[in-house]
Amino acid sequence: MTVSDIQSVTVLGAGNMGHGIAEVAAMAGYDVTMRDVEADLVEDGYDDIEWSLEKLAEKDRLDESVEEVLARIDTTTDLEAAVAEADFVIEAAPERMDLKKGIFGDLDEFAPDDAILASNTSSLSITEMATATSRPEQVVGMHFFNPPVRMDLVEVIYGEETSDDTAETAYEFVESLGKTPIYVRKDVNGFVVNTVLGPFTGEPAWTVSNGEAEIREADAAMVHRRGYPMGPFELADLTGIDVGYHVREEAGRPIPPITEQKVEDDELGRKTGTGFYDYEDGDGADYEPGDGEEFDTLRVEARMINEAARLVGDGVATPDEVDTGVKLGLGFPEGICRRADKIGLDAVLDKLRTLHEETGDDRFAPDDYLVELVESGKTGEDAGAGFHEYGDSGGDGPGDYRLLNYDLSDDGLLEVELDRPERMNALSADLLGEIDDLLSSVDADEVRCVTFEGAGDRAFSAGADIGGFADLEPTDAMDVTPAFETVNDFERPVIAKIDGYCLGAGLELALACDLRIATEDSQFGSPEIGLGLIPGGGGTQRLLRVLGETRAKELVFRGNRIDADRAEDWGLVNRAVPESEFEDTVSEFVADVLEGPPVGLKVAKKVMNEGADASLDAALAMESQGFGLLMSTDDVREGTAAFRDDRDPEFTGE
Ligand code: NAD
Repeated sequence: MTVSDIQSVTVLGAGNMGHGIAEVAAMAGYDVTMRDVEADLVEDGYDDIEWSLEKLAEKDRLDESVEEVLARIDTTTDLEAAVAEADFVIEAAPERMDLKKGIFGDLDEFAPDDAILASNTSSLSITEMATATSRPEQVVGMHFFNPPVRMDLVEVIYGEETSDDTAETAYEFVESLGKTPIYVRKDVNGFVVNTVLGPFTGEPAWTVSNGEAEIREADAAMVHRRGYPMGPFELADLTGIDVGYHVREEAGRPIPPITEQKVEDDELGRKTGTGFYDYEDGDGADYEPGDGEEFDTLRVEARMINEAARLVGDGVATPDEVDTGVKLGLGFPEGICRRADKIGLDAVLDKLRTLHEETGDDRFAPDDYLVELVESGKTGEDAGAGFHEYGDSGGDGPGDYRLLNYDLSDDGLLEVELDRPERMNALSADLLGEIDDLLSSVDADEVRCVTFEGAGDRAFSAGADIGGFADLEPTDAMDVTPAFETVNDFERPVIAKIDGYCLGAGLELALACDLRIATEDSQFGSPEIGLGLIPGGGGTQRLLRVLGETRAKELVFRGNRIDADRAEDWGLVNRAVPESEFEDTVSEFVADVLEGPPVGLKVAKKVMNEGADASLDAALAMESQGFGLLMSTDDVREGTAAFRDDRDPEFTGE
């Protein structure tokens, strides 16, 4: 079964996760059957889908009507009928092994021979579930996050017998849903994301249980000093203290006394009104920024890093996969491996060793791979290597970047990817700084064409990172970041590859590029006016030049979005094409630029950019100057000779 063979998807369970997964699959165009054990449960799930689709439609995030998506969803309580025609089955029934094995046994009997059988379990063994079937190679874990409609990450988990074909099809299926998959190459308890999360909630619970810290201290420190989206106790209250308790119990790990006590007292968090905080009579998670100054955050992070090292060392996931997992699955502000490299792996190891000695507790026992990294001198960013490799960022030439990826091919294509999919590639001051640094330090002679694109499937870039800019003084903000000018002035053609949202600062970056190619589903706009602002980064001025006054003012004044068709019609993009033709179209543009004369293109870009702002006379003078300059180049001799000989020219840029 390959991903293109998949048409019918069956979801078992219409609960929290099941209805969300069914919704996501239907939105991606699959025919979906959703099954639960009772008619009213399926109906509730279906109503939840309808409600959610209506919300998406209100926010303009649905490509079709609610009815069109709903028309692709069938519901039933009959298992045999539900799976008889299924190409891909996703089980999202309650988290009990006996129940899941029963379901997989039935699937083996009733689902087509080539169907892929996936489980959305968060903590149970895929390998064991697969033993209930005669086709364990077709069983795979597919761990969505809650709520599936909003969360981008899906872990694709290998059971011991899962074939590469099955895992690859599941991975591509996740991509076809517009989500970001990561492989979990071994069936380890907690997979990748929950393995790293374990100490985030667990270690503060031990610290508080031992009387070494207060709840508010831990939460304030992790949020306000270390940038996590929620405090560990606040998070436990949200997910349910019993949930974490059972996961630990199931995995045979000791349970912190404070957690045990809360479960005994049936104070399970928000759902019971009280947990670590009081949500009924109190103010909920009421910690203040200054509460956490004394808390030992390294103790918690060192344990998370130790878990990450175990995952990488055991070949469960790569550092990049771990980092993507925690950023997209948990909203961590940066990857845990990346953060470890910044802290210094030697400092992390010291911390673990000290705590191990002091407490004698094995949860601090340093993992072999972490020790190996430190002993081989790979202690992190400062040493040039740790979990990740770091380029020479101190001297000339581009370094290693945190928020973008780039690749320069031998034939001169510099591909740049904005890598903040968890924030829809929002342009923070740091990311703009990296763009500026990359294009300012790369050797332009080695480059013939640049492309910019956004990571993930949702956005080129959905705007400026408001959080990052909110701390700026107004006078700082008035210094327009040089990144847009650097892109605009870069000596080679720059192409924006737009797939998804291209809004605000994202649109400004695209406008600083020379050419723009978009998928049909992309959306464009300058929403700044809604914040009481105006587009920065050259947005008002470049829009004016690209679109003319009438259209530019419509975008800026009304602040609403236009679709790709209109953008093409208005000349905002060069092409708007279906997703299936996107890469080919970009390749055609890129090929023409790569094969073109580098100096000719450089001069063309320069005179066209500068000429646009000059009077016609001055612009014509620039053009003839450029023309004269080119006449003496090898490329012109080669171009004219090739034309005469009726062959393709080979430009050298001389
Ligand atoms: P839930 O209790 O909301 O829904 C489970 C549904 O499955 C119920 O409606 C139940 O009636 C139905 N069900 C029971 N037996 C069934 C059967 N034989 N066939 C079809 N349906 C059956 O649970 P949930 O939160 O949606 O969790 C489902 C699975 O997803 C679990 O394995 C859980 O670990 C996993 N998961 C949950 C979350 C989360 O945050 N809730 C996140 C990721 C994964």
